[in-house]
Amino acid sequence: MTGLYARERRSVSTMAHLRFYPLAAVGGSGAYLTGDDGRQLLDFAASWGAASLGHAHPAVREAVDRALSDQAGASYLSSANEPCVLLAEKLLSLVPERARGRVWFGHSGSDANETVARMVVAATGRPRILAFEGAYHGGTVGSMAVSGHPAQQGARAEGLTLVPYPNSYAAGSPQAAKEAVLAHLEKLFATEVPPEEVAAFLIEPIQSDGGMLVPPDGFFPAVEALCRRHGILLVSDEVKVGLGRSGRFNAFEHSGIEPDIVVFGKGLGGGLPISAVVGPEAIMNHAVAFSLQTVHGNPVCAAAALAVLQTIERDRLVANAERSGKALRAALDELAARHSLIGDVRGRGLALGVELVADGKPAARQTALAVYRAFQLGLVLYYVGVNSNVLEFTPPLTLTESEARQGVAILDQALADVAAGRV
Ligand code: PLP
Repeated sequence: MTGLYARERRSVSTMAHLRFYPLAAVGGSGAYLTGDDGRQLLDFAASWGAASLGHAHPAVREAVDRALSDQAGASYLSSANEPCVLLAEKLLSLVPERARGRVWFGHSGSDANETVARMVVAATGRPRILAFEGAYHGGTVGSMAVSGHPAQQGARAEGLTLVPYPNSYAAGSPQAAKEAVLAHLEKLFATEVPPEEVAAFLIEPIQSDGGMLVPPDGFFPAVEALCRRHGILLVSDEVKVGLGRSGRFNAFEHSGIEPDIVVFGKGLGGGLPISAVVGPEAIMNHAVAFSLQTVHGNPVCAAAALAVLQTIERDRLVANAERSGKALRAALDELAARHSLIGDVRGRGLALGVELVADGKPAARQTALAVYRAFQLGLVLYYVGVNSNVLEFTPPLTLTESEARQGVAILDQALADVAAGRV
């Protein structure tokens, strides 16, 4: 344990167990982090996806510097500011027509989803919300209330009904996974949950923290049709896999659906705290009641977010996520052929997951060991999944194909060390 890390443990209240290794970072550039022991680590986590352009990207640094020196008001509560207006206009152009109304700004994915949960009930007068088992929508009381991750039991809202997320690997095929969940939904509407009481269905277009589950073809179009039939608002939580990460700008585009409301966070600020909810004006008017947060919509974070969106466009980072994602995926598939611990490789673009299994069961211990060993060898990774056995890859969108292969070579060694009991 390094000096800085030890001091943090004595002074900061932090969920250090979510880090999986004793990392204290003192710098970073692109896809690399510098530890306080001087080591350069290849970062395949990008701070849980927040460092979308990598570390210390010049565009973000310049935008933040400029906004701090010009700063005209730190609070959107007290005055309008230019970066926020420009950002809102930009975000409105990036969502489907039906969501193109107004933008609400928050600080995190959690407060954005909490706002959605309260707003959709207030706007529709319907008391119920649907979300998926395994879904992580945030850590505040209101966002946990509409989440389905096992870590969030006990915080769920009375009006919440959880629906299984289709898991093609567990079900044996995408078709079987899709049919089972759609049949479950139809039955739910016919029995326990009157659809006319449901305000919204919160979806993750790829379920990340639940295990990087990719929906089967045709699944979300069927969910969308159900929502339209019953006047249920469709909300896409793009916090983790949106903004280009999946190889499309919005991850819901892979399914060809058009949500009513889109939620952005994490990578939007390129490391600075900002989130956004985008939806129709009549619905978003109900978000105003939840806007009493002094520094929401502050110009420094908004300027960083604008720089992120401009850089994604200018440097064609959506296409890069697809290209480098293919290289990463190919290298992981090649690992799967050699490591019996690997049960499944899945994901889209630079949102990928590798499920580890031993004797047909989730290999949670080996997953934690692999992550720890990878850290020792120079690769920052983390794991997710309702059984804590899915290695998750959310590197910066700037990742090169050669960095992708370099990281997988480290993982190769880490998995070999775990299998041989060398960790
Ligand atoms: N939504 C999704 C899909 C997430 O993955 C997360 C965080 O992991 C959140 C919302 C919450 O975002 P934050 O941790 O920024 O509050």
